[in-house]
Amino acid sequence: MRAPKLRELKEAIRSLFSRPVTVRFPAGAYEAPAGYRGTPRYDEATCIGCGACAQVCPAKAIEMIDDLAQSPPVRRFTIHYDVCIFCGHCELNCTTTTGIHNTTEYDMTTFDRASLVSSVEKELVLCEGCGAVIAPREHILWSAEKLGAKQFANPTLALSSAGALGLVEPASASVHPGLRPDSVRVLCARCRRTTVVGELWG
Ligand code: SF4
Ligand code: SF4
Repeated sequence: MRAPKLRELKEAIRSLFSRPVTVRFPAGAYEAPAGYRGTPRYDEATCIGCGACAQVCPAKAIEMIDDLAQSPPVRRFTIHYDVCIFCGHCELNCTTTTGIHNTTEYDMTTFDRASLVSSVEKELVLCEGCGAVIAPREHILWSAEKLGAKQFANPTLALSSAGALGLVEPASASVHPGLRPDSVRVLCARCRRTTVVGELWG
């Protein structure tokens, strides 16, 4: 019984002259260590707008909306931090691996839950035939680059790459896919099928 009492006394005296182990939050902010899973944030430069993060989010904290009323049309991602559970699945499954990352920020104290959001927008490419959404432009260009020379098997990819280099002008009018010249157009999967099948079998 005696030894523990002496040990506790020694500990108490030492604590009197050493710094407290607790932090003075919120007067002094605690710095989270590297690897801490705090608020996720998009990296506008490397996010291609593919939507994989929104699909894997277990809490459905990432809202993905295709805004066709805006000119040019955009795909908008909004992270709702009041729903996010900071699991890190969005970062883990990001197609480009760096489009979103969990920061070390953790203090989101507020009286206004609506302010707990972060957004990114990506320009959409629409089908020149029916106007359906194909994909964000950056996603198409990223896919074309990954495919290299194989992209030329798909006119949508090849035309988008050439357009980004300023080698072709965007189509000025929509088409009604079905004829051979229509195959060299930026088309959705349905219009591409209509054109190819129509050309082969009439
Ligand atoms: S950290 Fe988890 S819950 Fe939060 S946005 Fe990413 S996937 Fe969703
Ligand atoms: S590139 Fe990454 S962060 Fe951007 S939409 Fe795709 S999965 Fe999400």
